[in-house]
Amino acid sequence: MVSKTKASTKKPAVKSNKQSITVADISQRIEHHLQFTMGEQSSANQKPAYWRATSLALNDIIVEKLQSTKARQNQNEAKSVNYLSLEYLMGRLLSNNLHNLGLYTNTEKALQKMGFELADLCEEGADLALGNGGLGRLAACFLDSLATLDYNAMGYGVHYQHGLFKQSFVDGHQIETPDMWREFGSPWEVCRLESSQTIPLYGHVEEIAQADGTTASVWHAGKMLKGVPWDVPIVGYNSQTVNALRLWECRADSAFDWDLFNNGDYLNAHQQQVAAETVSKVLYPNDEHDAGKELRFVQQYFFCACSVQDIIARFENQYGLISESKNWPTFCEKVAIQLNDTHPTIAILELMRTLIDNHNIDWDNAWGICQKVFAYTNHTLLPEALEKWSVALFERVLPRHLTILYRINEAFLNNDVEALWPNNDDMRRRLSLIEEGHERKVRMAHLCVVTSHKVNGVAQIHSDLVKQDLFPEFDQLWPTKLTNVTNGITPRRWLKACNPLLAELLDKTIDGDWAKDLNSLSELAKFADDATFQKKFMAIKHQNKIALTKEIKTLTGVTVSPDAIFDVQIKRLHEYKRQHLNLLHIIALYRRLLANPELDMQPRVFIFGAKAAPGYELAKEIIYATNKIAEKINNDVRIQDKLKVVFLPNYRVSLAEKIIPAADVSEQISTAGKEASGTGNMKLALNGAVTIGTLDGANIEIAEEVGDDNIFIFGLTVDEVKALDAQGYNSAEYYENNAEIRACLDWLDTDYFTPGNPGELSAVKRCFLEGGDPYKVLADFQTYANAHQALDSAYKNQQQWAKMAILNTALMGKFNSDRSIEDYVQNIWNLTPSV
Ligand SMILES: *Cc1c(COP(=O)(O)O)cnc(C)c1O
Repeated sequence: MVSKTKASTKKPAVKSNKQSITVADISQRIEHHLQFTMGEQSSANQKPAYWRATSLALNDIIVEKLQSTKARQNQNEAKSVNYLSLEYLMGRLLSNNLHNLGLYTNTEKALQKMGFELADLCEEGADLALGNGGLGRLAACFLDSLATLDYNAMGYGVHYQHGLFKQSFVDGHQIETPDMWREFGSPWEVCRLESSQTIPLYGHVEEIAQADGTTASVWHAGKMLKGVPWDVPIVGYNSQTVNALRLWECRADSAFDWDLFNNGDYLNAHQQQVAAETVSKVLYPNDEHDAGKELRFVQQYFFCACSVQDIIARFENQYGLISESKNWPTFCEKVAIQLNDTHPTIAILELMRTLIDNHNIDWDNAWGICQKVFAYTNHTLLPEALEKWSVALFERVLPRHLTILYRINEAFLNNDVEALWPNNDDMRRRLSLIEEGHERKVRMAHLCVVTSHKVNGVAQIHSDLVKQDLFPEFDQLWPTKLTNVTNGITPRRWLKACNPLLAELLDKTIDGDWAKDLNSLSELAKFADDATFQKKFMAIKHQNKIALTKEIKTLTGVTVSPDAIFDVQIKRLHEYKRQHLNLLHIIALYRRLLANPELDMQPRVFIFGAKAAPGYELAKEIIYATNKIAEKINNDVRIQDKLKVVFLPNYRVSLAEKIIPAADVSEQISTAGKEASGTGNMKLALNGAVTIGTLDGANIEIAEEVGDDNIFIFGLTVDEVKALDAQGYNSAEYYENNAEIRACLDWLDTDYFTPGNPGELSAVKRCFLEGGDPYKVLADFQTYANAHQALDSAYKNQQQWAKMAILNTALMGKFNSDRSIEDYVQNIWNLTPSV
């Protein structure tokens, strides 16, 4: 039997808050903010006002806990990890903060008395969309886990005035508009003026001869920027800890510009202010692509310099001056810095510079410190995404940092490379931190690997490929440096908060707190064949599908049936993720249905969510084609209920939270070897979606966990992709030899989907043929279509399908981001919890 006595699994109470904060207490705090912070009349009953007042009331409680956490961490002298990331995809905070504090139910009651549904209020407020996709969301999940596990952690990021652009569709085309997440201020952030930083840049370096025969470098900066920190509290789930995410906003340095004001050049001084503010104005919207723009470079440096100065200031506050040699070992013992991809690489050069120039530490000791504190996470093997910055740009913006980089490179080539490969100019050229050529460039990833004591990939296959293909020589030089930490997701946001019906069923079924110990979900496996449990599980899926059906209607106007298979592909739009493989298969299904309206197939709704980088033309063509094909299919009475296609606009965390609980099928169909890990795959499987996917990234580990019977794997493997490349891939062969592929692609040249405008969708056909199909869509098409057929048959057996769905939820324990964090703690950071 499924049921169990609730009393036997009494959960540990949240020590500080749960009992002390009553419903009346919460009501009073909300009223207080309505009246005094916001100056609302008592007649005001608008949802936005109550959302804000509730958030402010909660943040008061949170900030108190943040202060007590800091005091405890300082007293324990707990080692801290400083997570440096240019992106944090936080989503909304109200619901998660309430769940993590254990205050959801009491707040719900308080608001009910005021005439509001908490679930409705949680829909108010913009997402904190300070990131592009998986990399930024990973940072957000990691902060949740660090606080949940009571580690001393600080997230550092940029306080973008505008986060990721908002997406809408006009006649099927993507339209981008600015994100206004804090137009009226965010209730979750606290300005920490006292921790502001002044950041030098531009200017020139003067070499001054010293009495001892050496030279000292003095940097005369040409410009100063001011960094103002905003702290967003990060609430641990059922833990003692609230950490901070510190986001840097750029302002002009007023002291620096004072002269301009005094000289009467008010307008020019104002210009300086405007110029400075552009540094933290926008998030660069390229996912997996290197933007290569000067402003982006300044943004990265500004962020790194503010963060490094702040890390040193916090250390000195607690342990004394870093310039004293007795304190250097303490710094290495107490501080870890994690670089989330190469975007914060300049932090290495900035720490070297400040230790040497500002804190009187000699070169060897400064380098020793950097090697001990830094570690680097690699997120991609795509060559176009490996960051390189021109030496000329470096020289202009950061002349002092460039001299430090040269010296690091010299020592690396002359000592490390020379020792293993003596007199080997080819090896020196390949490993150098500088890429020679008509434009000399700095290889940021090489600097990260040379400096860091650990370098990790984000799923086992990815880490293996980092060793084999990306950095084989570095692996030879330092055989223990390259390692793996498989990504994870927080089960608090991605199940407990976003799927309350399933969470409740799990509460009733599982002993202990699955939201903390996700491995305990494996207990579900024994109910996978239980007809009663299957019914409950699938009834919840159906409820969630009904809710999504309404959302789809609101967002697109399309009516879909909750009885159809909900087949979901949600992720940034990129050729390597192959939304166009999914699309090609949809066209093929449509053709088959037109040829045979009686075709035996389960009704299917294909659901897309994806933003394309504004400069990525082909990605935008794929969105347009999907929208046009969807329009035709959705209005074709001949196939009515068998096939629907919807592209939901403005994919973001809060939309993911609505789609994922309703998904039956999870599309994870990247070309093998291209997706480093993926985390969307984990979120969907955790919520009972069955994956159709390639042997790529974390899909491989998901398949290992759930077993081959509970996942649909298709397509070329990494080795087969490599073999095909070696032999020379010719996409035209697939076009010529596969009649279905040929018919589908030729259809795109007609005006069938774009009446009166033939050729409007031809770009999608061309990328497969003239474009050479670099991501091997045509090579994988047939096995993909076959896997879909197997999936369709499996769905016909509802008990079989329920079993698969349940086992997917049951066996996702490994992908808890708490496990990822414990891996980092054990292998890289060496932290102990602070309680
Ligand atoms: C999880 C998530 C991603 C990453 O999805 P992948 O399928 O791993 O690329 C991107 N965007 C949002 C909003 C997410 O929540």
